Amino acid sequence: MTEKILGIDLGTTNSEVALYENGTMTIIEGPDGKMLPSYVGLDDSDNLLVGGPAMNQFVLYPEKTIKSIKRLMGQTSPVPLGESSYLPQEISAMILRHLKNIAETSLGYPVHKAVITVPAFFSDSQRQATREAGQMAGLEVVKIINEPTAATLVYESNHKGAKRVLVYDLGGGTFDVSVVELQDDVIEVIASHGNNNLGGDDFDALIEKLLMTQIEEDGFSDISRQAQARIRRAAENAKKQLSNQPFALIEEEYLSERDGIPYNLSVELARHEYEEMITPLLDETLDSVHLVLKDAGLTSSGIDEILLVGGSTRTPLLQQRLEKVFGKAPRFELDPDLCVAAGAALQAAMISGEEIRAVLVDVTPYTFGTSAIGEIDGEFSLNMFVPVIKKNSPIPVTRSELFYTAADFQHTVEIKVYQGEAKNALENIEVGSFLVEGLSELPSKNEIIAKFSLDSNGILQVSAIEKVTGLEKSITIDNVITDENRDSLDQARDKIRQLFGEEEQENYTAESIETGDSTSKNVGNSRKVQAEALIDKARSLFDTAGDDDREDMIDLIENIDQALVDDNENLLLELMEELSEIIFYMES
Ligand code: AMP
Repeated sequence: MTEKILGIDLGTTNSEVALYENGTMTIIEGPDGKMLPSYVGLDDSDNLLVGGPAMNQFVLYPEKTIKSIKRLMGQTSPVPLGESSYLPQEISAMILRHLKNIAETSLGYPVHKAVITVPAFFSDSQRQATREAGQMAGLEVVKIINEPTAATLVYESNHKGAKRVLVYDLGGGTFDVSVVELQDDVIEVIASHGNNNLGGDDFDALIEKLLMTQIEEDGFSDISRQAQARIRRAAENAKKQLSNQPFALIEEEYLSERDGIPYNLSVELARHEYEEMITPLLDETLDSVHLVLKDAGLTSSGIDEILLVGGSTRTPLLQQRLEKVFGKAPRFELDPDLCVAAGAALQAAMISGEEIRAVLVDVTPYTFGTSAIGEIDGEFSLNMFVPVIKKNSPIPVTRSELFYTAADFQHTVEIKVYQGEAKNALENIEVGSFLVEGLSELPSKNEIIAKFSLDSNGILQVSAIEKVTGLEKSITIDNVITDENRDSLDQARDKIRQLFGEEEQENYTAESIETGDSTSKNVGNSRKVQAEALIDKARSLFDTAGDDDREDMIDLIENIDQALVDDNENLLLELMEELSEIIFYMES
């Protein structure tokens, strides 16, 4: 047996160990799971703690715990831990030793060699310190590779030819962005920028501050260290939830007490509020993106792929901002926490002469979403497609998004489920629909949460939940990821192409599709409900409308009524769109 070489991502917040053998990538799990928190500490009896147990005691015993040692690598001054002090490479060696033990326990044989990753900006002395840490841990470091190189290697394992990728890496405590050039088998970092003190911890700190303000307003200003630790953890959990859902409910019981009465914290944080809080931090990372492009002598159009690395890149706003800069969606099909370790393992396998195959993960080949009133390329539309689960998301996946009712006292909403990538929902395939009836008697903007769950068997479950009452309706759609669906998507595209010609494809509107289709359709029940809600909405605006708008609305309502009587869906859609447009502009 050739000697196995491990791949190790020695991270600031978390570290991972991986092995690639016989065409299979394995991230090796220890007691903390696949990710080992990069913490080292001493317990009450001065026994060494590495990983989760050390992290858990950090807030209570900071003097007996070390975190983020990676930031100090290369420095020659020791750091105190309990009664002693250690060089940064000695602390890192404790983490590496732990990872080596985890690997040996799982594999059942000893391992003596590793490839270890470091940030692209690491100096010679920082790289040397990392090498020494490996040696102290009983590992021969056969190669040190840059983290962006590792990520590129795993995403592009079967690559041929020339390509430029941007690796955006936002972890718990650090941010790096690099331009990497691939030239057949050579992968090279050509520019790199970053901030060694910016990461997901800063996002947590913003939520923590918000919670502390609430706690102070409730009259509890001095809380225990334990309570502080719970608040920090709750803040991080809320942040993670907000990557998948529009609200996070933060509830912590018994944080303090007064006169024997417990103090319980309960705060709801909406994604849009959180996004506002983190925007300045994201702006900072985007400044670095522009700087790195400048250093590489490129503009955004010179980048072929954007790869996301680091747990914090799961933040949807961050993905949207990058998509805006580059005009293409960043890739995130590989777990952003694990892909650097996987890249190190791939490099290790190449050194041991293993045959390399592409690293495959289960992803959805399509985007799934629903439709809403909105704008498509600046044009008003009743059928704006709102993606919920994006193409290339690893499955299983669950995501939810927030929608609002359009009319006052709207009793019913229809959720249409589409598959496809077009901005106009009608250009995608409708894979299902359902009505949610019996909504509360509320003015418009009643909050409805649409939740999509896609499993690895291609079963899509979609629920709609009225937030105020919890009223829920759902459907399950089998086999959404089938070749048949792929075919019908192609057919839909062909139809559009025939109708409008290649160049108009991108911009046609709902109206033009419906009227361009010569076969007249009958009006479905859900469309009637939609039309009635729209009429109600228009009537509620009569008092505030100018004379012209009111007259237009009255005419349109009459014509809509007639289209309903005539059962003419094409005309109905056209009229509804006109009426919605007036309402939309009156409201905005
Ligand atoms: P890393 O250093 O790459 O392991 O990244 C760790 C950081 O990713 C921590 O700040 C985590 O809180 C953050 N993180 C993990 N999962 C998510 C998520 N779903 N959404 C946002 N941040 C996350």
